[in-house]
Amino acid sequence: MARNKRFQRRVTRVVHVGPVPIGGAHPVSIQSMTTTHTRDVRETLAQIRRLAAAGCDLVRVAVPSLPDADALPELVRSSPVPLIADIHFTTSLALKALEAGVAKVRLNPGNMDDPDGLRRVLARAAELGRPIRFGVNSGSVRAAVGARLVRRRACPPRACAAGASDRNDLARLVRRPARGPRAGAADASDPSDIARLVRRPARGPRAGAAGASARRDLAPLMVDVLMDWVRQAETEGFRDLVLSAKASDVPTTLEAYRLLSRASDLPLHLGVTAAGPMDEARTRSAIVLGTLLSEGIGDTVRVSLTGSPVNEVLIAQDILAELGLRPRQGLRIISCPTCGRCEVDLIGLVEALKARTRDVREPLTVAVMGCVVNGPGEAVEADVGIAAGKGHGILFREGKPLRKVPEKDLLDALLEEIAKKLA
Ligand code: SF4
Repeated sequence: MARNKRFQRRVTRVVHVGPVPIGGAHPVSIQSMTTTHTRDVRETLAQIRRLAAAGCDLVRVAVPSLPDADALPELVRSSPVPLIADIHFTTSLALKALEAGVAKVRLNPGNMDDPDGLRRVLARAAELGRPIRFGVNSGSVRAAVGARLVRRRACPPRACAAGASDRNDLARLVRRPARGPRAGAADASDPSDIARLVRRPARGPRAGAAGASARRDLAPLMVDVLMDWVRQAETEGFRDLVLSAKASDVPTTLEAYRLLSRASDLPLHLGVTAAGPMDEARTRSAIVLGTLLSEGIGDTVRVSLTGSPVNEVLIAQDILAELGLRPRQGLRIISCPTCGRCEVDLIGLVEALKARTRDVREPLTVAVMGCVVNGPGEAVEADVGIAAGKGHGILFREGKPLRKVPEKDLLDALLEEIAKKLA
């Protein structure tokens, strides 16, 4: 374990994504993913640059088709940060992405079209010294197990050889490990359990219990699937792997990563899949990333949300900064919730302060407190602060009271002191 301020980080194998190391005692890096069509080079580059300017270390782009793969050489040449190609289904696209110079490929071996093609991707990545992330999420595991079940039912045991092959695949996919953290896993090799994992939850209170039970089984299954791929890659001699096991709910995601961290020393990419719009994504990501990172788990992070990817980067930065894992970029505002003791419009003041300092990138702590109960105490901890009274506030700088300011001038006085601190 490496000491990192208050937390002991689990020491993982280091992989290099271009100039950005992931794992070991290296800083936790921030990733995001473009929302443009990758083949639209102009729009995609513009978004990559916005992400990089916001503090994103690595940017992933979707490569669903040949025109997208054809855009990669230009994107790689012009991007200010290393690019990661996100590939599903088609191994030839992964090979093209590697030849285009992407710094890493993310794929899900469970949905690739051709095992031999996957071997060629691993071999080429090894030759070029590029890492690969194996990423599994709750939806893809359900789909993979479900597809095998459907094939098995369509093809009863003695009816065809393919059915036997699928049964073997399925047994391998969900088998319990001989050792490791998954000893506590539900016995997913029982077909009824597997069926429960893949079926759509019914409505009603009992359905809620069944859903919770299925979620409990899902994390060990995700880790089993992932570790099976890792063993296959390592058998091929490929070791530069990063792993992720994302679910869309917090308990499953936490469990999956805890199990994964005990199963392997590979660096982990943390995130919640399909985390939802801004508010939901922020809450889910803060819980998952905050919990796991404080347990020393996690080497690179992505906050995913339905919205601007720049917000993903800003939220990730906030989470890492609050944990002391990354220097803060911008103001850290400490403000009270206000109560019946507050005699100024503190909520309006904080909103105006936030809006006026949105572009500040320097780390600075500013306290905005509603009364003298906690105001002076918090102001001592801050670079700049005010403790409000009746229609006025006491302005502080580095804990020292400077002067009494009328309420109407509080915002300007705070901005003036912030500007002096930044000068
Ligand atoms: Fe209430 Fe004062 Fe505390 Fe703010 S600092 S919540 S106004 S007691």
